[in-house]
Amino acid sequence: MAFDYRNGVLCAEEAPLDDIARHFGTPCYVYSQRTISSAYGEFSQALAGHDARVCYSVKANSNLAILALLAKLGAGFDIVSGGELARVLAAGGEAAKTLFSGVGKSEAEVDFALSRGIGCINVESAPELERVAAIARRLGRRAPIALRVNPDIDARTHPYISTGLRETKFGVAYADAERLYREAAKKHELEIVGIGCHIGSLLNNAAPFVAAAERLGALVDRLQAAGIALRHIDVGGGIGIRYKDETPQSIGEFVRGALSALGRRRQQVIFDPGRSIVGNAGVLLTRVEYVKLGEARNFMVVDAAMNDLIRAPLYSAWHEVRTVKQTEASVEQAVYDVVGPVCESADFLAKERRLAAREGDLLAIMSAGAYGMVMSSNYNSRPRAAEVLVDGTASHLVRRREHVAELFALETIPA
Ligand SMILES: *Cc1c(COP(=O)(O)O)cnc(C)c1O
Repeated sequence: MAFDYRNGVLCAEEAPLDDIARHFGTPCYVYSQRTISSAYGEFSQALAGHDARVCYSVKANSNLAILALLAKLGAGFDIVSGGELARVLAAGGEAAKTLFSGVGKSEAEVDFALSRGIGCINVESAPELERVAAIARRLGRRAPIALRVNPDIDARTHPYISTGLRETKFGVAYADAERLYREAAKKHELEIVGIGCHIGSLLNNAAPFVAAAERLGALVDRLQAAGIALRHIDVGGGIGIRYKDETPQSIGEFVRGALSALGRRRQQVIFDPGRSIVGNAGVLLTRVEYVKLGEARNFMVVDAAMNDLIRAPLYSAWHEVRTVKQTEASVEQAVYDVVGPVCESADFLAKERRLAAREGDLLAIMSAGAYGMVMSSNYNSRPRAAEVLVDGTASHLVRRREHVAELFALETIPA
């Protein structure tokens, strides 16, 4: 385990979290390099001997140090904006191994992606097909494209993170895909390279993931019969992790399920996981400001807030809360809501947790590596947290804490 107690102190790998808090302050995201490498390794192992690629979904955690680590391990990337492509390039990732997803790519973003030699644009609508073709024509290039197809499979996950049903904004309808591929095939500026899907996030069971791969495979065969040959099949991401007591099937089970659903087809198989690579590799380290005992509820008021980690209020997500010092017998346990200083009732990190901690103690909000820092904001004029990447006993500051002056540096008062 990457986060475990050693001599009574919670550590990230071999680095004690109280040392990290002392050096870098709180709130602070702390990531374990070993955990990221080993999750990536689970994919590589299950994919050994297959023509396959892992394109890490940058939106889960886009810190340059993490992108650089994954690029070094051989990963490609799945991006959803021009900003994410700029990050991938800055971190040493290859445009050619990058897929560009998302329903609302702007002209500037498509232009940037094509100019940099993006590996594939995952087109999500008929008008986007037109836009990509027009920009490619202007640039005198051929645009490598895939269609993101909506396999209409219920991932049975939270409605905000379910993306594979007919009524979502994502992808083109399964029934329309073949017609759109035929249209794309008529445009010389478009080079059809693949097909993709992504049915949703936090899948604990591989069955819907595998079913989606099967649906894509059937479509690929029909396209082939129509003279449209694809080079890759992107089966998406969405593999769940354990936050509380979930028992998601392993990465290997997801991968083997998809590979066997696709059988002996010749296309390269692409996976684009985000959360399953980084989710359990990070914690949010925070200090208790006040222990506030109330009539109806007790509150542990900490220095991290919803602007640092919004998953609990946004998705009703559950994050385990641990004390950094293993509980001392002298501190009495009680049930607390762990809340931040932000002026919203929705500002909580966890509710009704049995904890023993005093003012000044450190808490670790577990499993905060995915959709944590990337969703942070400056609400209430709070500088964004620092980020630290731990490798063994070494801890590297990979994003310094923001300064207050930076929060309004871009603003001007009209004369
Ligand atoms: C968000 C996203 C992913 C990653 O989802 P996870 O649940 O983090 O694995 C993969 N593919 C696409 C197209 C996405 O938008």
